[in-house]
Amino acid sequence: MRLFKLLLILALAGVSIGLWLLYSVDGVPILAYHRVSDEDEIYSISPAEFERQMKYLQEHGYTAISLAEMYDAFAGKGSMPAKPVVITFDDGYKDNYLTALPIMEKYRMKATVFVIAGQVGEPAYLTWEQIREMQRRHTEIGSHTLSHVALSEVAAGEQEMEIRTSKAVLEENLKIPVEFLAYPFGKFMPAHFDMLRQAGYRGACTGLAGLNHAGGNSYALKRINIPRPRYGMAEFRLRLLRANIFFRFLQ
Ligand SMILES: [Zn+2]
Repeated sequence: MRLFKLLLILALAGVSIGLWLLYSVDGVPILAYHRVSDEDEIYSISPAEFERQMKYLQEHGYTAISLAEMYDAFAGKGSMPAKPVVITFDDGYKDNYLTALPIMEKYRMKATVFVIAGQVGEPAYLTWEQIREMQRRHTEIGSHTLSHVALSEVAAGEQEMEIRTSKAVLEENLKIPVEFLAYPFGKFMPAHFDMLRQAGYRGACTGLAGLNHAGGNSYALKRINIPRPRYGMAEFRLRLLRANIFFRFLQ
């Protein structure tokens, strides 16, 4: 009888752990894209593939939120949807507006675009007018520094200048507070956390893999890199799953 009880408890524990593994992920995934175009390049995903991914997110109950909404929810100032996702684009390419935005709107998704403040209006990059139009259509704009230098590889004064000037240039042109930054090449140092805080940023995105939660480092957000897929949707699903596993076991 005692053995039976023990086995029952073990079986229940096993089932509970299994269910926990399957359903209890409460970290927020932040997807990291660059370009959406048919160019055969690692950081460029085709419009058809991007559309399949947005459709997948919608069909699986994901709600796209901005980083500001994620931080507010973490701080208890707003509610978190059942399955949140943050969709980010680095560099600020024109195709984010021309190609990605209409696809996202079709599936009721929205994004955060990290703009290189010193490259706005250059060939292949968004213009100020396009950025303002994206803002009107629910896109959140963040900084990707002024000139896209690896912050950990330049002098401290230059790091500070890149962080502060990009924010000022974006805010001057867009008339909104710019509260988030994505580190170019994902490269950062702990010294940047204070630099960003003092400059008035609420958070920053890295290239580290994983999900995000309320107690995490605001200036070292983890992301799920979405390069041009070689194995279609299976690869997309695997990338989401892998981030869940990182989150559960390595954080
Ligand atoms: Zn970049």
